[in-house]
Amino acid sequence: MSDFKTGNHGMLRQQNLAGIMHHLYENAPISRIELSRLTGLNKATVSSLINQLLENQFVHEVGAGEGKGTGRRTVLLDLNPARGFIVSSEIGVDFITVICADFTAEVIWRKQEPLPADLGETVTLERLATLMKEAAAVGSRQSNTFLGVSVAVPGLIDPHSGTLLFAPNLGWQDTPVAEILRRSFNVPIFVDNEATLAALGEQFFGAAEGYREVLYLSAGVGLGGGLVLDGDLYKGAGGFAAEFGHMTMDPQGEQCQCGNRGCWETQVSQSALFRLVKNALAAGQPSVLAKTVNTQPETLSIRAIVEAARQGDDVALSALKKVGQALGVGIASLVNVLNPGLVVFGGALSLASEFLLPVIAEELHRRALHWNEETTRIVIAKFGMDASVMGGVAKILQAVLANPAQAVG
Ligand SMILES: [Zn+2]
Repeated sequence: MSDFKTGNHGMLRQQNLAGIMHHLYENAPISRIELSRLTGLNKATVSSLINQLLENQFVHEVGAGEGKGTGRRTVLLDLNPARGFIVSSEIGVDFITVICADFTAEVIWRKQEPLPADLGETVTLERLATLMKEAAAVGSRQSNTFLGVSVAVPGLIDPHSGTLLFAPNLGWQDTPVAEILRRSFNVPIFVDNEATLAALGEQFFGAAEGYREVLYLSAGVGLGGGLVLDGDLYKGAGGFAAEFGHMTMDPQGEQCQCGNRGCWETQVSQSALFRLVKNALAAGQPSVLAKTVNTQPETLSIRAIVEAARQGDDVALSALKKVGQALGVGIASLVNVLNPGLVVFGGALSLASEFLLPVIAEELHRRALHWNEETTRIVIAKFGMDASVMGGVAKILQAVLANPAQAVG
């Protein structure tokens, strides 16, 4: 039984360490006393945990701040940016993003490139590896310790092998992403679903900080989801949970890339919005978007639709309203099922949040049980389009915290 107790003690210490790091990410530079107040841990425990963080060089003591009102100088703790660097990336349906972040999660380098349709897995992953090496070169100028790489993808991942099993909107299947990248990088490699990572990032140091029940929705080319239950990411039996975009909303609806008909994402994604605009124009409705759609339909963008809506364009306003309503219908059901404290809305469609959120709120009010409606707030992702790459940073920081000894450069 004593082993069991030690195990529990170790786990508790780990949780407390993670809790302290959370507050450091939020509030550093900060004193030990303040950390004790925020975590509810006694001063001796905080001191012991901080000693471990100092030993591992996760934090350092910085210039004493003035203790408020006392005139006494207090030693403050700050995260050590040079403790290591992280390369985090996202393969979107039509873009690649790569960032390099230091140990404080500050982005020190970022590149985003459009991804031409049908570029193929091999070329895309080569391009990704090249960008990641560029990012790592920048990171290695600041720190000798390369902590790991993360890849966010819009599909289902085998959590053990890091193989992308199915990405309907990319048209990829059984792509061994982690294995391919291992040829270029000799550091821990994490491959995960983009919305799962985004949910983690928003909870670790974004809009969902402090919430234990979070529903994350990422609406872009498709609709991804992430779910935090009781403070942890909910992954399901095989690691494929929270695919809200493939809930059937209309059995006779549009064909979805997954093979089913009438999935939620056929109603609420970027392509659904574009289709509504194009259909309205084809029906002869006047709009400032007509010129773009008639001459260069491929350049139609969410930004252009939002801009048109701001000018009072009826086609843009009505398309956004329809997408907002379809979002609200699904969110109302999910809120009834899950009773989340927070719904975080991210992805490219969140650029149109000024038009979507009021409609979503109306539908929620109309359809959800009012007890559920009242306990749920809906906010925009703090990291916007970068939510998934910031989630990758959080994932690697979590792994480092769980096993500090392994992260020695
Ligand atoms: Zn589907």
